[in-house]
Amino acid sequence: MGQLDRQVALVTGGGSGIGRAVALALAAEGANVSICGRRREPLEATLALIEANGGTGIAIPADVSDDGQVEGLVDETSDALGPIDILVNNAAIGGGGAIHEHSVEVWDHVLDVNLRGPFLLARAVLPGMRGRKRGHLVNISSESGLEYYAGVGAYGVGKHALNALSEYIQRENQDFGIRVDTICPGMVVTEMTEDSAGLDHAKCLFPEDIADLVLWLVTRRPNIKIGRPILIQTMLNPWE
Ligand code: NAD
Repeated sequence: MGQLDRQVALVTGGGSGIGRAVALALAAEGANVSICGRRREPLEATLALIEANGGTGIAIPADVSDDGQVEGLVDETSDALGPIDILVNNAAIGGGGAIHEHSVEVWDHVLDVNLRGPFLLARAVLPGMRGRKRGHLVNISSESGLEYYAGVGAYGVGKHALNALSEYIQRENQDFGIRVDTICPGMVVTEMTEDSAGLDHAKCLFPEDIADLVLWLVTRRPNIKIGRPILIQTMLNPWE
């Protein structure tokens, strides 16, 4: 018996990095996992790993910033696996520079994926969760959503706003048995960061560290409330 048997989880950005580790961790505890991302191949690779471990899931290429594709993603997931119990809003892109250096296109694109995406996903799953009086949202934010690092521009603004979005959703839905958690990781070795010059990977977090936390959050006793975004960092500065 897994801790998440018969539950359905949707993980965005599940083809790589943190999303892949989260999808594998949830599936290993018995959840049926729907993974979405832009590219089919990495999604299929994650699904193959899930199935090799005895789990079940579905891979659906979709752009989280497109409302029609998000509705299709949620409908296809529900039709194939059942109503969604757990949503992990993980997909995001980097992007930045100093604010005055952003093109309008970069600004819009980063906020479309990193903020509009989680909004669209939440909007699509919340009515069903409210009706069933159960559900769990986990939003993957960033340390950049708590601090103000000069030069990460739209990315940092989007993550601060994602923290606020999580809080609004929590307050509006806690009487419906729905929980919302926000995780703010420090540096994690993934595609997003592996080429960062001067970064000591041995001092970074690994995707599995974030997956462990997500798993604890979605399986914890119902009476435990986490009041603020969770900052998860390493003890050693990975830039030194
Ligand atoms: P990653 O690049 O491996 O994963 C991002 C995923 O999002 C990819 O699978 C990509 O296909 C998907 N994606 C991008 N745009 C999309 C779109 N429009 N529609 C659907 N999917 C899309 O990077 P990661 O480090 O695993 O990032 C996962 C999350 O963790 C992100 O929210 C990121 O901001 C956050 N985070 C990462 C770090 C880090 O150091 N790596 C630190 C803090 C927070």
